[in-house]
Amino acid sequence: MARYADVIIDISRGQLDKSFQYRIPAELEETVQIGSQVRVSFGSARRKITGYVIGISKQPKLEESKIRPLDGTVRDSIAIESQLIALAVWMKDHYGSTLNQALKTVLPIKVKAASREKKSLRLLLSLEEAKAELLAMRARKRHSAAKERLLEALMKDESLPWELVTEELSVPSANIRDLEKKGWLAVESSRSMRNPLETPQKSGKRIQLNEQQKRVCESFAADWDLGRRGTYLLYGVTGSGKTEVYMKMIAQVLSQGRQAIVLIPEIALTYQTVMRFVSRFGGQVSILNSRMSAGERSDQFERARTGEIQIMVGPRSALFTPFPKLGLIVIDEEHENSYKSETVPKYHARETAIERARLAKASVILGSATPSIEAFFRAKKGEYSLLCLSSRVENRALPDCQIVDLREELKAGNRSVISRRLGQLITDRLKKREQIMLFVNRRGLAGFVSCRSCGSVIKCPHCEVAMTLHKNGRMSCHYCGYSMPVPTVCPVCGSRFIGGMRAGTEKFEEIIRQAFPGAGVLRMDADTTRMKGEHKRILETFANQEADILIGTQMIVKGHDFPNVTLVAALAADLSLNSSDFRGAERTFQLLCQAAGRAGRGDKPGQMVIQTYQPEHFAIVDAARQDYVSFYEQEMAYRSLMSYPPAAHMLVVQVMSDLEQAAESAAALLADLLRRARPGGRIDGPVRARIARLADVYRQAIYIRDENYDLLIEDKNRIQDRLLKDKSLRAVNVWFDFDPMNAF
Ligand code: ADP
Ligand code: ZN
Ligand code: ZN
Repeated sequence: MARYADVIIDISRGQLDKSFQYRIPAELEETVQIGSQVRVSFGSARRKITGYVIGISKQPKLEESKIRPLDGTVRDSIAIESQLIALAVWMKDHYGSTLNQALKTVLPIKVKAASREKKSLRLLLSLEEAKAELLAMRARKRHSAAKERLLEALMKDESLPWELVTEELSVPSANIRDLEKKGWLAVESSRSMRNPLETPQKSGKRIQLNEQQKRVCESFAADWDLGRRGTYLLYGVTGSGKTEVYMKMIAQVLSQGRQAIVLIPEIALTYQTVMRFVSRFGGQVSILNSRMSAGERSDQFERARTGEIQIMVGPRSALFTPFPKLGLIVIDEEHENSYKSETVPKYHARETAIERARLAKASVILGSATPSIEAFFRAKKGEYSLLCLSSRVENRALPDCQIVDLREELKAGNRSVISRRLGQLITDRLKKREQIMLFVNRRGLAGFVSCRSCGSVIKCPHCEVAMTLHKNGRMSCHYCGYSMPVPTVCPVCGSRFIGGMRAGTEKFEEIIRQAFPGAGVLRMDADTTRMKGEHKRILETFANQEADILIGTQMIVKGHDFPNVTLVAALAADLSLNSSDFRGAERTFQLLCQAAGRAGRGDKPGQMVIQTYQPEHFAIVDAARQDYVSFYEQEMAYRSLMSYPPAAHMLVVQVMSDLEQAAESAAALLADLLRRARPGGRIDGPVRARIARLADVYRQAIYIRDENYDLLIEDKNRIQDRLLKDKSLRAVNVWFDFDPMNAF
């Protein structure tokens, strides 16, 4: 039976949503696959052009006789565009988006050249085809010597500079255009690139890897030499020297003519981190960041494609760097939330990297001091290889960590947010002129209800997540919609100190300034860093020791190195612990461990204080002991019991409309559709989203959980089909979020 290929024609001009169907001739059955670059005749003039296959099916969309066959495939069918297109098709299926959205995410946008262009010619025929054409031309004995010369040259060198062809080979440009029209070759242009790193210099100084670093590198190298490619989880405590290990592995991959991508969370993408790579690899490195113009980004991608650079360092989007022979993808701090895209397609860089690596026959290194529960789960199942760095380099100690029970403070009559112990320590550090970081791990906007006497938090009886407090005096569960009034006394201990816990950094700053009038206090949060450059200015002021206390949100605990900081405190650990989604404990554990890593970076030992109403909660206890494995086991038991990821997969169907009624009825209709299609399925909702109305858009959510990801994809497809067919659903927008990172 015949098969048909959907072909998109012009990827450079952004016309990505139009595809055309061609028949796959028998001789190409074996070679054509998703992503293949193919030659076709297009339009009524039967113009010979190339395109990419984005889908293969058995159903003709037109009358059989009207479908033209593919003319052939382009010789280098492992071209990087082919791989990226195959990746986009996977992302569309896996995360739910249109193909257009997926392609736009993955394919580098070509930005119009402002600088001088360089043209080159590329052969589109296979070697056999080219040979046959060459023989035919010779047999005809027409005056085609120049064309023959060109074809011969292109059979030796797949790509040739325009100048070389027109000058050294003296092929007239009219001849080149003739062959271009026949679809034998393509004329491509590139241009001289800007370089974001001025005169990158390698430095001579090299660190000698210690024994455990060596062991990890050798294990990777042994696999690599045997041709084994896969995903590795590098679990190494803070300061264990992970970056040195990444660089060693990258060097290994580069020595075999392959390239590497290093993903780093945007917030940690500082000059210092990048310079570590530059001083090791010099001009082979380039970077991407969100402050770059489209033109600058496009240039960096082009430098990667042409082989000018071998290593790209950047945030999530650097994953799509068009390296022709990618060998390794490193994801540093793999547990970070920012690796999940919050725009459609809502892809996770970890899984997408693994898929890209599979297509490119490359390996992936995931690195973290506090691996995501997902990654550690996969490592324990044997899907990833686990590599460990269990001690800090030069055996530097982790800071001493103390938990302060805020319930005891209340009992002793201290209603302030600063415990007596923390107060003493702050006074002591101010006296010694050492510095202090205080952080408020506040997340999102939702408040929860808790008892200040016994620490109990009101949770949904069905979902085991904290209920969200609403202005109308009721609480509701974000997943299943269960709702109840806020109690006036604690259901556990009867205390009347029960209520919503909300606290902002601004309030804390005021309290600290009052309690320590002589101290220099800086605040860093979303409000004080709104202006460009403020973030950097605050950190510099603190680094120059022009302030004693830095108070801020989780933004202050990531990746900075302040040797004079000897005291770090989490003012209210409960704020992130009791978030309205299932990841609260994980986030708290990660934040507290990271914060602990901030104290005592210099010669003076550090100390950490965690203030909480739930001192016996495992996330707090294990963070204080820096015991990841114990934390993992308890958290995983909870996820398994409740079927939360990674024990099962979760799909959130996000239904949005400017009309409240439309959002509600559409969500109800879709939930009904899903329940009918899979009567046994675990489907919750629809419920109003945690933020039920945002920018005048009403938001509803349906939650689906299943161990089998494919069933969730089928549910997603069901909804997409229905949205296409059902006119009554025109007023709503539907997004999909698989294994969500943030509450919707
Ligand atoms: P991590 O990423 O695991 O927190 P880093 O790679 O940033 O750790 O290393 C922490 C510090 O230790 C860096 O200043 C690094 O240069 C240094 N370092 C790494 N490996 C070694 C080593 N084998 N010997 C001495 N210093 C090292
Ligand atoms: Zn109580
Ligand atoms: Zn619930």
